[in-house]
Amino acid sequence: MTLKRHKHSSITIHAIRQRAGVPYHVERKVCSGCQRLLDEKTIKRAAA
Ligand SMILES: [Zn+2]
Repeated sequence: MTLKRHKHSSITIHAIRQRAGVPYHVERKVCSGCQRLLDEKTIKRAAA
């Protein structure tokens, strides 16, 4: 299988993860073409 180079087209996915019993929100940017993870950041939520 040959991996053809292409220009990544990022899509944003929101997900909930859990760390040490505490759920947190992450925003991930992945390529819609090759599913490669391009960026990931944690979104901090203010406690309501
Ligand atoms: Zn790609």
